[in-house]
Amino acid sequence: MSELLRAGAVMLSESCPICSLPLFKLRSGEVICPTHGRVQIVKSDDEVLSITTTASLDGLERVAVNAINKLRMELEGGNSELGDLNVIRALDAWLNVLERVRRLKIIIKHSEKV
Ligand SMILES: [Zn+2]
Repeated sequence: MSELLRAGAVMLSESCPICSLPLFKLRSGEVICPTHGRVQIVKSDDEVLSITTTASLDGLERVAVNAINKLRMELEGGNSELGDLNVIRALDAWLNVLERVRRLKIIIKHSEKV
């Protein structure tokens, strides 16, 4: 912390959401935690919600893409344990998830701009 102050950083009243150490604002305007590095400061609960929602949607999107890939390979290999029809049903369900996730992400992006 003393190094940060010597470098001209300013201690903020906000604290790190992870370790609750005080945050510092660098001359470059970047806000960092002495332990965790760069931190995103949010101004409202809504903003926190939209960031955590986006992170959770990102995770879900990855899961869906992985599942779709796995099912696609099963179809291509022609030796699926579930049987082709069941694989296609599962694919349909995952594609629905993926579509909704992407739609929600677009909605969130739009609502942030306003
Ligand atoms: Zn921290």
